Amino acid sequence: MKKIAVIGAGPAGIEASYILASNNFEVTLFEKSSSPLSNILDKAYLFPDFSSATELADKLSAKLLQKNIQVVLDKEIVDIKKDGDIYKLIDKEEKSHIADAVLIATGYTIFDAHRKEEYGYGIYKGVVTSLDLEKMIRHKQIFNSIGDIPSRITFLQCVGSRDEKSGNNYCSKVCCVTAVKQAIEVRKALPDAEIYIFYMDLRMWGQGFEELYREAQEKYDIRFVRGRISEASATFDGKVQIKSEDTLIGQPLKMNTDLLVLMAGMEPSQGTKTIGKNCHIGGEYQFISSQGAHIQDNLTTMEGIYVAGTAKRPMSIRDTLTDADSAAVQIMMDLGEKL
Ligand SMILES: Cc1cc2nc3c(=O)[nH]c(=O)nc-3n(C[C@H](O)[C@H](O)[C@H](O)COP(=O)(O)OP(=O)(O)OC[C@H]3O[C@@H](n4cnc5c(N)ncnc54)[C@H](O)[C@@H]3O)c2cc1C
Ligand code: SF4
Repeated sequence: MKKIAVIGAGPAGIEASYILASNNFEVTLFEKSSSPLSNILDKAYLFPDFSSATELADKLSAKLLQKNIQVVLDKEIVDIKKDGDIYKLIDKEEKSHIADAVLIATGYTIFDAHRKEEYGYGIYKGVVTSLDLEKMIRHKQIFNSIGDIPSRITFLQCVGSRDEKSGNNYCSKVCCVTAVKQAIEVRKALPDAEIYIFYMDLRMWGQGFEELYREAQEKYDIRFVRGRISEASATFDGKVQIKSEDTLIGQPLKMNTDLLVLMAGMEPSQGTKTIGKNCHIGGEYQFISSQGAHIQDNLTTMEGIYVAGTAKRPMSIRDTLTDADSAAVQIMMDLGEKL
């Protein structure tokens, strides 16, 4: 039986492991944390259908019960060396693990909003990230900086994405629809709150996303303002003052808000960056690069090493799972004849 090493137990790593193991490959899935799916379990409900993140995690975790999968937790892989036809994965303790092929599924991390000093994240309590808000929604505890129920909540798009100053010119793809999803969640929890979304332009690219955007305006009274907030500061009464320009009417704008939610984008995880650098397969912005934009998109430039999911670029869960299926099929085709 051919041995495949999969690095990262997120949706991509689990899905590909399941397909490979179901087709008579022996899979070892390495995960650096003490449990899988951390980037799913930190969310409450998922776009596009408001399904529960916990339920999805349970369904994905059930796939790990497949008999040919061995899951190794608390194991961070930092490098891969080719030795003839064999690949040696090197972990942080410098131990090596052998495989016939390797799939990198090391995923993403959220942009560190502290880097955008002008918005005061970590300085003003009323400034939070989309991930912080996700936790508040999960625990049904949406409060402002002084523990009161917020009466005005403002979302700011494109924090750390489409932004030359952060070094990230790319679009993170999921944060427009995430803001709309979260704004609807906030409206359901706080029927009387005013809710604003400040955007450069809205990228509702997926099935059902445009409809959600319409619904946000027509059914949930979410107000969309085209403009980028230039800075935020604290007020004496615990609010956040924001300065912006409404670029549709060409007027500068100043307003107070109880919560400013920064829609922080996606960056390659540390694991993605480290493996990309050590194996010389990292590309633009330190995501892993693939051989082709259309076909061969699961092949890296190193033979026998494959990539799937957000280790490659920002994408939704649905696209991640499809990409993982495609990576598994590619591996099966490349190694199948040698079975
Ligand atoms: C705020 C926010 C909200 C979102 N909401 C939604 C939503 O509602 N719906 C939706 O479809 N998508 C959503 N997404 C996107 C979704 O989180 C991703 O599509 C999905 O998690 C990508 O899965 P992945 O397997 O590629 O990567 P990840 O989920 O990042 O998994 C990668 C795994 O690899 C592990 N790992 C990393 N490095 C190493 C290493 N060196 N060795 C071993 N293991 C390693 C990590 O610990 C992790 O478990 C959201 C994203 C953000 C930022
Ligand atoms: S998805 Fe929307 S918020 Fe996120 S970077 Fe792209 S345009 Fe900006």
